[in-house]
Amino acid sequence: MWVAASAGPVGAMLAVGSEYRGRYGLSVAELERFHRPRLETLAAARPDVLALETVPDTDEARALLRAVRGLGVPAWLSYSVAGDRTRAGQRLDEAFALAADADEVIAIGVNCCDPRDAGAAVALAARVTGKPVVVYPNSGERWDAEARMWRGPARFAAGQVAGWRAAGARLVGGCCRVGPGTIGEVASELSEPSEPSEPSAPDARGPGRLSPAKEPDTACTCGNVASEGDCQWWGAD
Ligand SMILES: [Zn+2]
Repeated sequence: MWVAASAGPVGAMLAVGSEYRGRYGLSVAELERFHRPRLETLAAARPDVLALETVPDTDEARALLRAVRGLGVPAWLSYSVAGDRTRAGQRLDEAFALAADADEVIAIGVNCCDPRDAGAAVALAARVTGKPVVVYPNSGERWDAEARMWRGPARFAAGQVAGWRAAGARLVGGCCRVGPGTIGEVASELSEPSEPSEPSAPDARGPGRLSPAKEPDTACTCGNVASEGDCQWWGAD
């Protein structure tokens, strides 16, 4: 089992829903100054991996990638997306490409997004970066920051994960409002042998702990203050 240290976006600290918009009005250098001491503190606790998650904006991804360099701890980078764009509206292929040559980044993908947006994002992340992909959408409900409640229908179904896996996902789970029962169903789905026609997963760089032959791990995590209390970790090992 891995232990990940979660580093959420600036927007999660602001707690006004801006983690789903990005564009905080901060420069990359200012964002790096925010994240660096937090990442250094987390790295000092020697987690297995840093979860750079719910990132809404490529400026924040650039800052996180700068701050994580040289810490000696592998990381995954996970965007929160809307359709085929980041929450801030940037192209996803360009967003993923930022981490393609970052040796610290052992997986890249999306979280806390509508599960209907996950499949295409997983395939794109694998194609653009050649890295294993991490994917853990939320339930598909929408966070209303003013009313401080979730709205709309839940759409996460464990049957969706086989498609994500076939597209390159190697770390699979659920974010906000995806509960233990559904995570159990996801784990069952992923315990099934993959289809023979499934394309081989890209090799992990860095510490090599994501083996192409290894079954996906199941996790739930969130750096999102809005969902505090909803999210826990579930390890499949
Ligand atoms: Zn979430």
